[in-house]
Amino acid sequence: MSTPRIHEMCAVEFADKIRRGEITAEDYIWSIINRAKSVDGKINAFITMASEEALEKARDIDRKIARGEKIGRLAGVAVAVKDNICTFGIRTTCASHMLENFIPPYDATVIRRLKKEDAIIIGKTNMDEFAMGTTTETSYFGPTRNPWNLSKVPGGSSGGSAAALAADEATLALGSDTGGSVRCPASYCSVIGLKPTYGSVSRYGLIAYANSLEQIGPLAKSTVDCALLLSVIGGYDSYDSTSVNMPIEDYFRSFTSDLRGLKIGLPKEFFDEGVEESVKKHVWSAIHKLEDLGALYEEISLPSLEYALAAYYIIAMSEASSNLARYDGLRYGYRIDHDDADYSRVYAKNRRVGFGAEVRRRIILGTYALSAGYYEQYYLKALKIRMLIRREFESALKKFDALAGPTMPLPPFDIGEKINDPLTLYMCDILTVPANLTGYPAISIPCGFEGDLPVGMQIIGKPFDEKNLLEISFAFENNTDFAKRKPGLQ
Ligand code: GLN
Repeated sequence: MSTPRIHEMCAVEFADKIRRGEITAEDYIWSIINRAKSVDGKINAFITMASEEALEKARDIDRKIARGEKIGRLAGVAVAVKDNICTFGIRTTCASHMLENFIPPYDATVIRRLKKEDAIIIGKTNMDEFAMGTTTETSYFGPTRNPWNLSKVPGGSSGGSAAALAADEATLALGSDTGGSVRCPASYCSVIGLKPTYGSVSRYGLIAYANSLEQIGPLAKSTVDCALLLSVIGGYDSYDSTSVNMPIEDYFRSFTSDLRGLKIGLPKEFFDEGVEESVKKHVWSAIHKLEDLGALYEEISLPSLEYALAAYYIIAMSEASSNLARYDGLRYGYRIDHDDADYSRVYAKNRRVGFGAEVRRRIILGTYALSAGYYEQYYLKALKIRMLIRREFESALKKFDALAGPTMPLPPFDIGEKINDPLTLYMCDILTVPANLTGYPAISIPCGFEGDLPVGMQIIGKPFDEKNLLEISFAFENNTDFAKRKPGLQ
């Protein structure tokens, strides 16, 4: 294999080279910036590039090294950050008109932790508006295109983060996953994406969509990179009341590639008619690969999964309607200049113009589901279903070490194909939402290609057992070449 160009290197490789003085942070950041300049016009992965700040930081790191000072674990590494994670002094828009000019006065905890390890924020990535979507098409800043095929969606809502990695415009990336938004674009762009156990990564500074479901998660080009990034961002944070106080795990450790004795459950609902044959074919051959590496599998059934999607959308929209109430144009967000003295009319106008159609749809449906008389019928019922699903997962994961299936029911589809048909689009989340309803960790691993289009395999684990998911991912990655392939972008 030819040696990778600087911007193609993975973080662990780069960290090693910079320590040995074989490369400077400045050269590497220039290489990333130039790459983004040459391809992002086609892809639209970034809403905001932070080139100047990144170069300045790179020079700082080079000086530190020259002086022989200690450097962090991610020294110089370019990280692309989803645009719903607050970055001090760098615009954070949530891909919305509403927050188009919002510059946070503070860093999210995950950003503080990245900076402590000398990582470099290279820019803020495109996403579905307020993270509501599966394709990165609802962005106020226009859709992101899939680097593997520019007419296809990159997945969403963290589509910009995954596309930036696939196109080598960044080395690591952060996304957020409320119902699949890290795993779906990871699958569609052929990178690794992990949704951590609820409570293991701080949500402080993540602009909320649906608090009880979401986690910030790492995206990377290799499993070791993903493990390293998770180790840096994870761990207890007193600023997030749902953060779990457990000793910090160092996921970045020597993996073995030995899966002997690993027990995997395959819920038959993950392979239902809604899942395209081509996807099933690739996932099955990946499962046989895991079997070759020593894993054992058994088919099982989780019958309450039938209600997962409905429960997810009721809960997510209800929480969204409450979270987004603050954007009225007076306290927060976009404001139309006019002299109307009637506050409710002012709110309505600001919100009608400041929010896109999908966000408005969800606020309306969520408000309806929470309103008197319907609350019991919808919201409360959805919470009960969530409980049932969690119990089923709990008992399945007593018997198995992990559950596996496809990440997405379909390969990447055309931009524009489903955006006017919200229900069909929501159906695409059917395999990813269970991990959010239960809070369990899940990873998407590149596992095949249908023509030029990537297919991902999802592995769901026991709470706080991310190391097991990473172990499986490492073993699979090192015995296949899917994660190493590059799109034919110029
Ligand atoms: N596609 C799902 C939704 O629209 C998930 C989005 C997400 O994880 N942020 O709600």
